[in-house]
Amino acid sequence: KLAGLRICCIGAGYVGGPTMAMMALKCPEVVITIVDISVSRIAAWNSDVLPIYEPGLDKVVKACRGKNLFFSTEVDQGIRDADIIFVAVNTPTKKVGMGAGRAADLTYWELAARRIASVAETPKVVVEKSTVPINTAEAISAVLHGAGKTRFDVLSNPEFLAEGTAMTDLDNPDRVLIGGNMNESGKAAVAKLADVYAHWVPRERILTTNVWSSELSKLVANSFLAQRVSSINAVSAICEASGADVDEVARAVGMDSRIGSKFLKASVGFGGSCFQKDILNLVYLCQSMGLADVAEYFHSVVMMNDRQKERFVSRMIHGLFNTVTGKRIALLGFAFKKDTGDTRESASIEICRRLIEERASVCIYDPKVEADQIWMDLTAATKLDKTEVQKYVTLCDSAYEAASGAHALAIATEWDEFKTLDYGKIQEDMVKPSFVFDGRNVLDHDALRELGYIVYAIGKPLDPKLNTSINC
Ligand code: NAD
Repeated sequence: KLAGLRICCIGAGYVGGPTMAMMALKCPEVVITIVDISVSRIAAWNSDVLPIYEPGLDKVVKACRGKNLFFSTEVDQGIRDADIIFVAVNTPTKKVGMGAGRAADLTYWELAARRIASVAETPKVVVEKSTVPINTAEAISAVLHGAGKTRFDVLSNPEFLAEGTAMTDLDNPDRVLIGGNMNESGKAAVAKLADVYAHWVPRERILTTNVWSSELSKLVANSFLAQRVSSINAVSAICEASGADVDEVARAVGMDSRIGSKFLKASVGFGGSCFQKDILNLVYLCQSMGLADVAEYFHSVVMMNDRQKERFVSRMIHGLFNTVTGKRIALLGFAFKKDTGDTRESASIEICRRLIEERASVCIYDPKVEADQIWMDLTAATKLDKTEVQKYVTLCDSAYEAASGAHALAIATEWDEFKTLDYGKIQEDMVKPSFVFDGRNVLDHDALRELGYIVYAIGKPLDPKLNTSINC
């Protein structure tokens, strides 16, 4: 049924790359071209070292590349040849102008839409894969029909994959959501896209709806997920003040089938390119609709997240006898979560920025994040130049190197390898008393205490040896 179908995806990033690779694997009769304006990104997709790390991605790309999956910078050609065009460009938070700090910046989207309008000669189905504010499909439709010479059907098909598990999420999604217009050509476009997914996703998991519901669902899904994290993190502060254990509370609460156990892990705070951006986008939407109280409700999720990062740093400072100035701190993990090299909005960045502000000496180790990325993130966050940042920050090739001579270890990302380090050996090279601040609750705290460490873990009964005179 799909033979001869040609798909183009504009944007070869964390979403465009994995989603199209999975589609190519599952639909061998469809030819898929992913285009991007970034020459270096496309070159990397065509090389042995892909531009993003995602478990299982390598294998799928290598199986399909050059057969029915192509990576190219020929954006116009890709558009011209395609029947269906996915747009998976970035939609960051606006930095300047109206709505700065909250609204989505749709510049990249509009540029892509104008490109489609100017080169498309035959009817196209244009699919919003990026996360966008509600009403974007309508605005994009206006751009396409105003400037284009053919018919366009604009669909919303938000992506729900999580980085780190993208390939399994794409292989076996909880649901695929497709929003379209309710007219005849809209319905036909929805059916065409649904047929593609039906190659591997059971029909009952392919939901079709109107575009506004589809666009709003994505923002709401991310806001709800982030809200659970902020809720359990708020509880973690109560646990520390009261002596309760956040994991025990989460277990008891999560076994209620109405609540469920997922996303109840207390931590140093959520990161990633999406949660904060999408909540702020929802907040802006509420504000522009005059729903100030609803906006405030969702905004508190982001505020709680910021507070959690600050709480963690405060625990470190107070624990280390009220100052970290000149003290070496090993920061383990820089990615926003395990199994990805992505650092966007990573809690590590803010922790590191605060430690630099306190004039600590920070030694960072992450198994996947590139050095250039860390320097870029830290210069942007601190507004210092690289040489200035390097006065306070050193990058290390292993956790052991980072910890050597350190006063404290701070776990900022839950990488599996941090669980199996030889903490006895590590402690030999650390300043005494040696501290561990577990921002992900992944270590065996009792075993660490037996080795002589003073341990702080999020939402756990406080170590009597830790300075806890101040509630954080
Ligand atoms: P990304 O920054 O990794 O990739 C976007 C790519 O688009 C970049 O390579 C960029 O060069 C390219 N691009 C920008 N403008 C272009 C243009 N006019 N023509 C051609 N290429 C262009 O972003 P991402 O993480 O893949 O996210 C993309 C969208 O998907 C965002 O809206 C995001 O909110 C959403 N999303 C992301 C995730 C995630 O886990 N990262 C999950 C679900 C949804």
